[in-house]
Amino acid sequence: MSESGGFAATKARQKCGRAHYYPEATDAEWNDWKWQFRHRVTDIEQLMKLIPIPEGERGIRREVLRDFRMGIPPYYLALIDADDPDDPILRQAVPLAEEYAYRDVGDEDPLGEEHYSPVPGITHRYPDRVLMVISNSCAVYCRYCTRKRIMYEDAVPDLEIDRMVDYIARTPAVRDVVISGGDPLTCSTPKLESILAKLRAIRHLEIIRIGTRIPVSLPQRVDAELCEMLQKYHPLWVNVHFNHPRECTPEAARACDLLSRAGIPLNNQAVFLKGVNDSLEVMKGLVHGLMKMRVRPYYVYHCDPVRGSEHMRTTIAKGLEIMEGLRGHTSGLAIPQYVIDAPGGGGKVPINPNYLLEYDQKKQRALLRNYQGRVFEYYEQVPEEELLRRKLVAERLPAPTAGPIVITPSHGSNGDRGGMSGGAKVRTIGNGRATGATAEPESAAVAPGLVVGKSKWAHRGRARRDQT
Ligand code: SF4
Repeated sequence: MSESGGFAATKARQKCGRAHYYPEATDAEWNDWKWQFRHRVTDIEQLMKLIPIPEGERGIRREVLRDFRMGIPPYYLALIDADDPDDPILRQAVPLAEEYAYRDVGDEDPLGEEHYSPVPGITHRYPDRVLMVISNSCAVYCRYCTRKRIMYEDAVPDLEIDRMVDYIARTPAVRDVVISGGDPLTCSTPKLESILAKLRAIRHLEIIRIGTRIPVSLPQRVDAELCEMLQKYHPLWVNVHFNHPRECTPEAARACDLLSRAGIPLNNQAVFLKGVNDSLEVMKGLVHGLMKMRVRPYYVYHCDPVRGSEHMRTTIAKGLEIMEGLRGHTSGLAIPQYVIDAPGGGGKVPINPNYLLEYDQKKQRALLRNYQGRVFEYYEQVPEEELLRRKLVAERLPAPTAGPIVITPSHGSNGDRGGMSGGAKVRTIGNGRATGATAEPESAAVAPGLVVGKSKWAHRGRARRDQT
């Protein structure tokens, strides 16, 4: 069974797995995605038979389900340790009392998707790409979901889907569509194919992307029939949504492998969630688990302020600390881009620890911090005075255009990792960008010994003209 998922859990988990929760299920049932879907745990009474719920919280948790439904396939539930009330899989799928406490905190539509909706189901926020919501249901209902507001069991009517397709067809600027939901892979394969075929018939549409959590929550759904169908509609990309290394099970790996073999690039979009993956150890386990399944860690989102999810939101400082702990400590391919989806539809804003401590455009000089917190002085080109000293032609240089850009010292999660804490005088203005009119290059004088490396101008080879 898939309990370990290859992740070195910090404590032994006893009450989990298919044998614990569903000893009666046959292999044929367990591997049948329709059986899994039909047997989802959807109410508190069912849940209580499988996982202990404190008596005083049962009523409150029932109330939560009046706001946002629950659905947990047996496969996904089997990843939960019934003995652990803080289990990271449980926190994602099971309504908690905190969700009730925070039911009035947050927004129904934190990304303002409804404001950018020219026809129902389409969000057109960026000029060349649209989001197309073709399903109102998911295999698992994640407690932090940004689209809680649209989760109903009713299927999206065909007429509505046709209107979405029509909008894309008459909007030539759209070259990329993200099909999402709900989860598009909860649709039957023929229904999904009918939508893909209509989209592929639109000549200006280049890329089709599908956003799905099915390989995580119901990997049995990914079968040969689905993959054979999908590969007819390339270029097609799939974005998956793993949040914890324990979700990287052999079943999930098989589903990802089938999709990869159909020529579909897989990218993961995780969300930083308190008590789930807000630790470096867990995130590192996740990105390594993804890489082993040939899934590229793509984005990690800061959790949106959606109603009822405040207890799952972590801080930006924590997110940066984790990103800092990844960069340089694992391969670059395994590092997702940390983003915050700006409220009201501002789009994704990349959030990074500061590695460019200072940039003086006039002097063409930068101060860089590496993953160990060591500072390096870097020249993007040979300084003018150096060229003059060498009697080279200074006029060939572009005229300097601006003063220094001084970057706010890094969020110093690890004490001296901030890089500028050793006495460097760096003047910061606003959010880190200084104006050339006020900041003097000299203001960035660096304490002796802080810079451990510099660009070198020594010519190591013979000039081309000398070779002839
Ligand atoms: S699978 Fe995605 S769309 Fe569905 S509830 Fe989870 S986060 Fe929301």
